[in-house]
Amino acid sequence: MIQPGKHARKRKHLLKPKFITVHSTANVSRGANAERHAQARRNGALKSTHNSLGYLSWHYTVDQSSIYRSLPDTEQGQHADYQGQGNRESIGIEMCVNRGNSAPQTIDRTAKLVALLMKRHGIPLANVVPHQHWKRIRFKDGKDLGYKNCPGLLLEDGKLKLKWANFKAAIQSHRRQL
Ligand SMILES: [Zn+2]
Repeated sequence: MIQPGKHARKRKHLLKPKFITVHSTANVSRGANAERHAQARRNGALKSTHNSLGYLSWHYTVDQSSIYRSLPDTEQGQHADYQGQGNRESIGIEMCVNRGNSAPQTIDRTAKLVALLMKRHGIPLANVVPHQHWKRIRFKDGKDLGYKNCPGLLLEDGKLKLKWANFKAAIQSHRRQL
C-alpha cells in the first residue's frame, strides 16, 4: 500500500466504486511485475505532470502469481481520465505484461479479482470496462486526448473483440462461484 498522507495519497478523495476499469501496463521489461509496480508507487515514483495529483495511481496490480494493492477501494486513483467519471467512480486494475510473465494466468487472476470486487461492491458485469471506455480530457490544459488503446493485452486491432469477450466470460464464471 501507498502510505496514507504520502505521495499519491497526499490528498484523499473518497470513492464509492460503481465501475471497475481494466488496464495493462505496456511495460515489457523483464522486472516490471506487480511487486515492482507497487514498490515504485510506495516510494513516490510514477509522477505525472498532467493530472491534478502529480502522481499516477491505481488500486491493484496483477501478474501471473500475485496481486498487490496500492490504494483502498474507497479512495480515488488517477489512472483513467483525469477529473472524469472513470477516476471518480472506478477501481483501477493494471495487468502486467512484463517479458516472461504468463498472459493467460495474469488475465485469469485478474478475472478472479474483478469477480471478488463486483461481489464486494455490488458492481454489475456491464460496469467492468476497459480503460478505452473513458474519454480523457487532460487536466493541465483541457486538451482532449480521446480514448486510450488500453488494455493492450485484451484489445485486438484496438477494439473489443474475442479476447475481451472471453475475459468477461471468465469473470462471469468466477462470479458464479462466489
Ligand atoms: Zn490504461
